[in-house]
Amino acid sequence: MKFLDESQEARLVAAIHRAEQLSSGEIRIHLEPECAGEAMDRAQQVFEQLGMTKTAERNGVLVYLAYADKKFAILGDQGIHERVGSSFWEEQKTALLNHFQSGHYLDGLEAVVLGIGKALAEHFPHQGEDDVDELPNEISRG
Ligand code: CA
Ligand code: CA
Repeated sequence: MKFLDESQEARLVAAIHRAEQLSSGEIRIHLEPECAGEAMDRAQQVFEQLGMTKTAERNGVLVYLAYADKKFAILGDQGIHERVGSSFWEEQKTALLNHFQSGHYLDGLEAVVLGIGKALAEHFPHQGEDDVDELPNEISRG
């Protein structure tokens, strides 16, 4: 099961790119079929592995999905977490869950990327010419 085809994946990468044009923050999506334990534990592991704790302003956000197991987590680094608080992540998770429950995975992932992008833009505006794409926008897979 590939979960997303190339054009669907391209749509998500474009959404990440769009979000990051408004913010210095960094968004990544990690997809894998299965997750044995808690999605949040696994997301934390992936976050480290992808070097997401190394952004200058600690404003990376990971959207993690184990699609076959239907488990997911959204994890923001301390810089963004301190500003938006837990309620924001809860809102995004609920939005994602609603989409997933109707089988709209692509729409859900896209909407959540743009929602996170909005919050990032508010707290970490884009730095213009000095802005660096610190983490690749491509989807990573486990
Ligand atoms: Ca950036
Ligand atoms: Ca990026």
